[in-house]
Amino acid sequence: MTAVTAAPVALLGGTFDPVHYGHLRPAIELLEKLNLAELRLVPGQVPPHRPPPRLSAERRCALLEQAVADIPGLVVDSRELERPGPSYTVDTLRALRDEIGPERPLIFIMGSDAFRGLMQWHRWEALTRYAHLLVTTRGGDSGELPPALATWLAAREVETAERLRAAPAGSVLFQAVSRLQISATAIRRLLARGYSVRGLMPEAVWREVRRGCYGYPQI
Ligand code: ATP
Repeated sequence: MTAVTAAPVALLGGTFDPVHYGHLRPAIELLEKLNLAELRLVPGQVPPHRPPPRLSAERRCALLEQAVADIPGLVVDSRELERPGPSYTVDTLRALRDEIGPERPLIFIMGSDAFRGLMQWHRWEALTRYAHLLVTTRGGDSGELPPALATWLAAREVETAERLRAAPAGSVLFQAVSRLQISATAIRRLLARGYSVRGLMPEAVWREVRRGCYGYPQI
């Protein structure tokens, strides 16, 4: 087998309602640690059983564009918002694989909580046909994996980022990243009470948000 040398492309999905440094800092760490060609932030539609995002898809995307404008390597990928209704990750990965060709490593980033529920995802076993999975962890992560998932993982888990660069898809890596004490939920709550969220997100995003988002008094 010939070694794969092209720098990987990675994807981080989320609601980004709104984007904040808790999203950006781990993304930047992974850009550097994995030597990525680019990391795509992929805002998604929210499934019907979850409360709808407060901001429209267009506004969440516009804030994300502001957030990444000065950060080389981070890009916004709005493909999931261009289709009506929630998208399946497996379809997003397949579409991206078609775009980047069969050789370049593709990495889907997910939190360890989401990983524990992986078997509920649509066609979950096909995910590693198109991409590697990178599961972000932080100190104190706990929780047993369902036995079938543990068996599936045992056949795919690798210990180093180099292993992800050596093949286009197929492996799972657990990687520690910083976890900042910031959540979009806490940001929306602060704004609704009229507090500033300056410092929790890039200044350009705060400039947009303070024009009147999430109930913050318009300036
Ligand atoms: P909400 O509070 O509305 O649920 P959130 O701030 O958790 O939102 P999401 O858009 O749901 O943000 O998260 C997108 C991705 O970013 C997920 O993989 C999530 O695990 C990760 N993430 C969110 N906040 C942090 C944080 N503070 N540190 C590290 N990763 C984070």
